[in-house]
Amino acid sequence: MFDNLSEKLDKALHVLKGHGQITEINVAETLKEIRRALLDADVNFKIAKEFTNRVKEKAIGENVLTTLQPGQLMVKIVKDELTELMGGDVTGINLNGNPTVILMSGLQGSGKTTFSGKLANYLKTKKNKKPLLVACDVYRPAAIDQLHVVGVQVGVDVYSDRGNNDPVSIAKSAIAHAKTNGHNVVIVDTAGRLAVDEQMMKEIANVHKAIQPHETLFVVDAMTGQDAVNTAKAFNDILNFDGVILTKLDGDTRGGAAISIKSVVNKPIKFIGTGEKMEAIDVFYPSRMADRILGMGDVVSLVERAQEQFDEEEARKLQKKIAKNQFGFDDFLTQIQQIKKMGSMKDLMGMIPGAGKALKGIEIEDDAFKHVEAIIHSMTPEERANPSTINTSRKNRIAKGSGTSIQQVNQLMKQFDQMSKMMKMMQGGSGRKMMQMMGG
Ligand code: GDP
Repeated sequence: MFDNLSEKLDKALHVLKGHGQITEINVAETLKEIRRALLDADVNFKIAKEFTNRVKEKAIGENVLTTLQPGQLMVKIVKDELTELMGGDVTGINLNGNPTVILMSGLQGSGKTTFSGKLANYLKTKKNKKPLLVACDVYRPAAIDQLHVVGVQVGVDVYSDRGNNDPVSIAKSAIAHAKTNGHNVVIVDTAGRLAVDEQMMKEIANVHKAIQPHETLFVVDAMTGQDAVNTAKAFNDILNFDGVILTKLDGDTRGGAAISIKSVVNKPIKFIGTGEKMEAIDVFYPSRMADRILGMGDVVSLVERAQEQFDEEEARKLQKKIAKNQFGFDDFLTQIQQIKKMGSMKDLMGMIPGAGKALKGIEIEDDAFKHVEAIIHSMTPEERANPSTINTSRKNRIAKGSGTSIQQVNQLMKQFDQMSKMMKMMQGGSGRKMMQMMGG
């Protein structure tokens, strides 16, 4: 996420982070480079200029040059300003209605339907709600089908009325349907066009007026940079929406939209989409995003994701197995599956401070465990339970079956062995042994 911008900002701040003498010239040069980095990331010119001006004023106000660690202080000032620019505090969504009506708006292809599914899933699993998805695109039958597919995926009911070509009446009937069927959230997915046009705006304005949503969300593709900001402005002028959803942040986005949108429309980014899967949704935390942009990682989110996947019952079972020396490849596979549920490897790596820089240029496969899983799947159940029985001829068979090499099988066996030993030590509470093993 935002690799290029992170790298450039890091470079800009590098001089100040060093121990050399810092002068006014260094600071001015750094500010210029920060501005250039923002412009390259497709941040609006005026916003970039105001940003560096604010950083400069703060730096002067806090007498950066006379402090002990001017570099650190500059990084902090940049981080605070970046956080402020992206919205400051976290803004949740209003769920106080009965039912709460949420209207989705945005261009075709922005990710509205996908996000409607993600939001329904999020509200169902994290907020204990019973959502209803509503298909209001009366022009593309495929869009209605798509919402039904999404609904099945997340186990949420979908309301549609294929014979009806009036989105206002569909939305109204859907809300009535929700009331009689005990749905406490109604998510209305609307028709989008490829570009802003008058008819689409009129239509969504009519739906908006008729159903008076508690939340109107504007969905935008982060890959479109400054265009995203312009579209946001057009929609906001008509709808005065409550918040922005930035999708496709998992792609090669430069960051301009995330940084500029709040100050242009003065509405917070509420959620981000980080993948095509229904779980790829995150609450937007401006401060955490600023950390990530500045290469400081996002350990808080990483820990939260790990906690979400943590199952106490499973952990207890695993502990018992380790204690009894019964930890096998099937358990290893379960562990991998849990890690995978936390997100793609690329995404997780991005949350580790400094990892982006350290791994620069190294292509991380999205499915980094593909080979490992193939190898384990090629083992017989007995082999998985008793890895010590895997001799050379078995290894050859496994390599062939999984389309890997004997070296890859050996490597996995070795890793598995080390991991089992380490877990055993942690179990026994023998921390000292563990430290020795790690060279401490
Ligand atoms: P709509 O026309 O606004 O309803 O857009 P869709 O929901 O159909 O999304 C358009 C395309 O973008 C689809 O192929 C989605 O799978 C994809 N998409 C949506 N959100 C994301 C995201 O966060 N990341 C990625 N990589 N793709 C996404």
